[in-house]
Amino acid sequence: MIADNLNSIKDTLPQDVTLVAVSKTKPVSDLKEAYDAGQRIFGENKVQELTNKYEELPKDIEWHFIGHLQTNKIKYISSFVSLIHGVDSKKLLLAINKEGEKINRKINCLLQFHIADEDTKFGFALEEVEQLFQDINKDDLEFINICGVMGMATFTDDQNQIAKEFSNLHSIFNKIKETIFADQQSFKTISMGMSGDYKIAIEQGSTMVRVGSSIFGERNYSIS
Ligand SMILES: *Cc1c(COP(=O)(O)O)cnc(C)c1O
Repeated sequence: MIADNLNSIKDTLPQDVTLVAVSKTKPVSDLKEAYDAGQRIFGENKVQELTNKYEELPKDIEWHFIGHLQTNKIKYISSFVSLIHGVDSKKLLLAINKEGEKINRKINCLLQFHIADEDTKFGFALEEVEQLFQDINKDDLEFINICGVMGMATFTDDQNQIAKEFSNLHSIFNKIKETIFADQQSFKTISMGMSGDYKIAIEQGSTMVRVGSSIFGERNYSIS
C-alpha cells in the first residue's frame, strides 16, 4: 500500500522536485515500509517523535523538521536534522545558530513565509525578512545555511487562490535570491505543496513537496 502510493506519487513528480514523506503520527513500521520502497527523506513536526524515530531507523535517512520549532528544543535535533523548514522568527534563527555553534555544525534551514489567507499559519512577511537582514550581519549566522523558502497555502477548494499564493512565494524567493542571498549558491529550495495541493505547487515552481496522507493514509490524531 505505502510502497504503491509512494511510487505513484513519484511517477508524477518532475525529476528535480524532492519528495519529503511526511510521516508524523505514523508508526515506525510504516516508515520502514517507505524506506524499503526507496524513500530516504522523511518529515516530522514534533521533536520527541522525530528523535525517537531517528534512533530506531537506519542512519542514511534525511530527517526534515517541518513543524513549529521551540528554541529550547533545537538542541535535541541539531546534531542530525538535515533541514528545518519552518524558521519564522529572528529569535529562532539566532537560537539555531547558537546550537550549531555549540556542535560546530552548519544547520540547513528554510525561511517560512506567511502566504495563506489565514491568521493561523506561521511565517514571515517579505518586509520582515528584508528588515531582519539589515539588522543582522550575515556573519552572525555562521552556523546556519539558509537554503530557501517554505510556505503553506490556504486550506481551500479554490485552486486559483492556491496557485496565486504559491506564485507569491515563488516571487518572494526570486526577490530575496537576487538581493539578500545573491552570493549564495545553496539558496535554491522552494518547499511548497502537500497532499492536496502539490500538483498546483509544482506548476508554480516548487522544488520540494511535503506529502503525508497521500503516502501513509489519513492521520488519526485521537490515538497519537
Ligand atoms: C502535515 C504536514 C504536511 C503534510 O500534509 P498532508 O496533507 O498529509 O500531505 C506538509 N507540511 C506540513 C508543514 C505539515 O505539517
